[in-house]
Amino acid sequence: MTRFADRVAVVTGAGQGIGAATAHRLADEGAAVAVVDLDAARAETVAGKIAAAGGRAVGIGCDVTDPDAVTAMTERVAQTYGGLHVLVNNAGITRDDLLFKMSLPAWESVLTTNLTSMFLCCQAAQGHMVAARYGRIVNLGSRSALGNRGQANYAAAKAGVQGLTATLAVELGPFNVTVNAVAPGYVATAMTAATAQRVGSTPEDHQRMVAEHTPLRRVAQPTEIASVIAFLASDDASYVSGQTLYVNGGAR
Ligand code: NDP
Repeated sequence: MTRFADRVAVVTGAGQGIGAATAHRLADEGAAVAVVDLDAARAETVAGKIAAAGGRAVGIGCDVTDPDAVTAMTERVAQTYGGLHVLVNNAGITRDDLLFKMSLPAWESVLTTNLTSMFLCCQAAQGHMVAARYGRIVNLGSRSALGNRGQANYAAAKAGVQGLTATLAVELGPFNVTVNAVAPGYVATAMTAATAQRVGSTPEDHQRMVAEHTPLRRVAQPTEIASVIAFLASDDASYVSGQTLYVNGGAR
């Protein structure tokens, strides 16, 4: 498939997990991909794998909570590849705790990394998209936006992602820029492995426990989220905007 021929994509938090799977998927379908991560070496490793498989990619170290770094990153991508058509806001962290124990830094870092970073990246990218009268933005939400014990900070940030997505769809729609969100349930990544460890479990046992309560009786793999992100970033979804699509194995 070449749904992204001549397209330039930025994927944040793409050094591992869902972001890395998305970078691979977009590159496999023809996009030139900027693999952006806090950890430059990790980003370059993913970009190197894409290049080794015949794709086009550059690894860029960037803290997406830093406005100047975000501006520099988007300018570099636009100059390197001659545009910026697709933005996948995927970088995220968890700092789980029950409300009575949650520290202010844990609250603020989760809001900043999961939500403010999207504001910064959308703001930096929209100039290129509006000028080209073309853009596709996909934001990573979460099923946790509906409420999840120990995740007041994360749930609030991901609920904010839904509001940001709906509003930017209204503002950017007239310029042929669509804005959507994907809200996964439980995906087998380093993020959920860390959660398992925090609650004294192993990734395998934790996944089994979640799978029992999921209609499809298993957790998701990163590629199963990447394929939905790719759909929303493609012209197959040209009339879809302002939506949050839950990808959670049928859980209510
Ligand atoms: P991972 O932790 O595996 O990967 C996230 C990547 O983002 C890491 O490489 C991380 O670096 C990077 N990152 C963190 N902060 C920044 C920053 N400030 N600037 C740039 N990069 C940063 O996460 P997942 O792949 O599991 O999750 C990806 C997205 O999907 C997140 O937004 C998450 O909230 C969302 N999601 C995940 C679910 C899951 O079950 N896994 C479920 C629902 C939503 P570092 O490791 O150094 O922090």
